[in-house]
Amino acid sequence: SLTPAPHRIAVVGGGIGGLAAALSIARAGHHVTLVEQAARFAEIGAGLQLAPNASHALDDLGVLGAVRRTAVAPPRLVMMDALSGDEVASLDLRSAAYTRRFTYPYLVTHRTDLHAALLSACQEHPSVALRTGHTVTHAEQDGSGVRLHFAGTSSELTADAVVAADGLHSRLRRALVGDGEPVCSRYVAFRGALPTDRMTGRMSQHAASEAVMVWAGPRMHLVQYPVRRGELYNQVAVFESDHYTPDSDAWGTEAELEERFAGTCRTVRDALPLIARDRRWPLFDRLPTDKWVHGRIALLGDAAHPMLQYLAQGACQALEDAVALGRALGRFSDPADAFAAYAGQRRERAARIQTGARRFGEICHLEGMGATLRNALFASRGPDDFDDVSWVWTPAPAAVTAP
Ligand code: FAD
Repeated sequence: SLTPAPHRIAVVGGGIGGLAAALSIARAGHHVTLVEQAARFAEIGAGLQLAPNASHALDDLGVLGAVRRTAVAPPRLVMMDALSGDEVASLDLRSAAYTRRFTYPYLVTHRTDLHAALLSACQEHPSVALRTGHTVTHAEQDGSGVRLHFAGTSSELTADAVVAADGLHSRLRRALVGDGEPVCSRYVAFRGALPTDRMTGRMSQHAASEAVMVWAGPRMHLVQYPVRRGELYNQVAVFESDHYTPDSDAWGTEAELEERFAGTCRTVRDALPLIARDRRWPLFDRLPTDKWVHGRIALLGDAAHPMLQYLAQGACQALEDAVALGRALGRFSDPADAFAAYAGQRRERAARIQTGARRFGEICHLEGMGATLRNALFASRGPDDFDDVSWVWTPAPAAVTAP
């Protein structure tokens, strides 16, 4: 089939989803202008797990090599009981069974490193224009294009179509889907990466092993893994607050963190003082929506499918979105048709992962008998048994619809 004539596509938001989308759309032969509200492009100082569906997508985007230069390929994913300190189960990410099933590596990376790899690929692409300091207030569309309006200026941007990758609190989604505010889970995360040599005792052995460690306990968990060639160690402590109040930050405090983790094993308690405290992240998601596309405006990443992080898939799904969107724009001459095809390919899978993430969080945070049963069930699985995770880690097959 003929390659569609180039469109002018605007992407709103320069996070991992927006940059990946800009790159994918440009590689499909279109012109992209990406607008980001912040004064400069940046990600936060914490880690990100990239399951093989994400490394597959990064390969499709041409940046897997750049990401692998700093990312770590952990040998194992280990679930520990946060109370007893015993190993519950593990997955061998270097086994023949893993490679046969997934082909692509399981990676862990610093967010800044992934973001920088995507940003420099966008900067190097002649069809991508990047603008910071532009906050989109609203969008208007008619049958032939979309007009974006910005805060604090009367200048506008017109495009043939718009991709809204403006994150969890997406303004464009609010106008288009109308499903209110994101849902707060009453859980909160404290996270950050620190020099690996600051880890001591048993923790330094875990860090040296380069495994992803998940310490699961009652209404709390701790995740740890190395990033940036192993030089930094990422830690994410997550717990449910008993003091949640909407419209206030006075819940999920450091004091509650100490309290919730007080009954954990020695190794977890030793890690506690080294967990970043400078900022807390209340954890939100939404119920899946079918309304990903409205004519010439499409949602992508957290704007489309914000999810709890328990399957570590939010960014992975944004990368899958970006690949699917680029493919669709490479096949259909009308952007609205391409967006409809994109949504058709992605909606169901992202929705399953959104709901699956909630469920896995509940399993992770079980107490008492529930936790005992969970541990027994997980322990019955061998380290090369990927049946439970395979549906998450395997990207949706590329659509084969002809234009
Ligand atoms: P964002 O990163 O939120 O980017 C949105 C961008 O849009 C921002 O740059 C913002 O400034 C800009 N913007 C917003 N509004 C406007 C506007 N009006 N005009 C212009 N620009 C605007 N995912 C994984 O895959 N693996 C993990 O291990 C993982 N761990 C996580 C751990 C925690 C504790 C949390 C909270 C999340 C985790 N996630 C993980 C999820 C992942 O972080 C997100 O899904 C992902 O970052 C979403 O990217 P995005 O580009 O869609 O949105």
